[in-house]
Amino acid sequence: MNNHQRIYLSPPHIGKSEQTFVNDAFATNWIAPLGPNVDGFEADLARQTGVKHAAALSSGTAAIHLALILLDVQPGDYVICQSLTFSATANAIRYQGAIPVFVDSEEETWNMCPLALEKAILACKSGDFPMHPASDRSSPVPTKSNLKAIIPVHLYGMPAKMDAIMAVAVKYNIPVVEDAAEALGSHINGKQCGSFGDFGILSFNGNKIITTSGGGALLSDDEAMIRRARFLASQARDPAPHYQHSAIGYNYRMSNVLAGIGRGQMQVLSQRIAQRRANYDFYVDLLKDVSGISFLPEPEGFFSNRWLSSILVDPAKTGGITREAIRLALEKENIESRPLWKPMHQQPVFSPYPFFSTGVSDKLFELGLCLPSGSSLTNQDRDRIAKALMAVVVG
Ligand SMILES: *Cc1c(COP(=O)(O)O)cnc(C)c1O
Repeated sequence: MNNHQRIYLSPPHIGKSEQTFVNDAFATNWIAPLGPNVDGFEADLARQTGVKHAAALSSGTAAIHLALILLDVQPGDYVICQSLTFSATANAIRYQGAIPVFVDSEEETWNMCPLALEKAILACKSGDFPMHPASDRSSPVPTKSNLKAIIPVHLYGMPAKMDAIMAVAVKYNIPVVEDAAEALGSHINGKQCGSFGDFGILSFNGNKIITTSGGGALLSDDEAMIRRARFLASQARDPAPHYQHSAIGYNYRMSNVLAGIGRGQMQVLSQRIAQRRANYDFYVDLLKDVSGISFLPEPEGFFSNRWLSSILVDPAKTGGITREAIRLALEKENIESRPLWKPMHQQPVFSPYPFFSTGVSDKLFELGLCLPSGSSLTNQDRDRIAKALMAVVVG
């Protein structure tokens, strides 16, 4: 091994003013959930995304869960979910006892394929599902259950084809929960990710483009829904001098201390996006002439925050070099990289559920590698990465 400091895939990157907001929370004794930083952070998020209302929560996962509760997702209902995502997207469906129906990606954004989505909707409506080859179908799938929501994801910051997805959703009148956990600041022709669906969700986990160390938000233009989300997220306390409850509550609110970090991070969001996009340009520049290595360019009008830069490595064209060979070579230099997210339809825990394939996510998982993408990467880090990458891809 070497004694260089480890270069991480996507470490937190704190700016100058986070501490000030956190100090304010201490100075005013707002070390509780709720408080001025929570209100301020919610206003910042609404302004940034162009969505009217935001609820700051303990995690992005909590935001997805609350969105599904607000859409009345019940045990046995169907919820359509992008297969190529992080498990949190699909876990929330199971928290409600609902049945995830996985939809594959298209090649231009790596996100939910609108054509496969329509097939999945028709199957949910008829109860007529194709057999899932990876499944023994031992867990019964009820037929003609209610389809309650569609969850597309903007993976690695690249917007999904929201116009086509929303058109299908509107045609069949199915609400959309947009998982924008990785896509704060991404947009299509100026319309921000998180603002297309009935609900948008964000994450401020430590690895995301901005962080509160842990946190998330639920976005919606529907004020009553966001008010309800805040109520459910703070233990569903009815107005009464004693503790009174007429609904099951959750402890999902963001604390005023962490919201202070969020307010500081919002001041540097545009810088963080510029830095992440510069990482992507760096990798394209470095590897564009290496045969068998390809990137995900932005479709016309699409703007990605480039949360993670990733490459596809086709060993048929690289002379046999695989993405795993590259990953191990980087690891030897103490540089973290990671295969693209393993699709949900390939995960043991989700294998019994229906899946509508295009073949794309299987290929992406086989060939794809996420490269170090932190906004705090230094020129020295880049030199190390370049040296390690070039040593393996050109020998
Ligand atoms: C991070 C992430 C989540 C979950 O967010 P947490 O804040 O970690 O709970 C959900 N979906 C996607 C696509 C994510 O990347």
